[in-house]
Amino acid sequence: MWVTLEKAKERYSFCKKCEHLTALKTCAVCKCLMPAKVTIAYTRCPIGLWGKEKSAGYTKDYTFRDKD
Ligand code: SF4
Repeated sequence: MWVTLEKAKERYSFCKKCEHLTALKTCAVCKCLMPAKVTIAYTRCPIGLWGKEKSAGYTKDYTFRDKD
């Protein structure tokens, strides 16, 4: 269900450069909270900047924190 931390960071790097990311870290296109959405394996960017990847097996103890 979850992607690796590296994959989540890679996905979020696209959001951080994207004109659709709001100050609240939501996407103006899909309305999702992006630091959370990028951790879910079956999600994708609504304009195709990042896509679905298979789960790496991460479960409940997995967290993704944006340190920027
Ligand atoms: S999900 Fe896609 S469109 Fe939305 S902020 Fe991220 S890169 Fe931009």
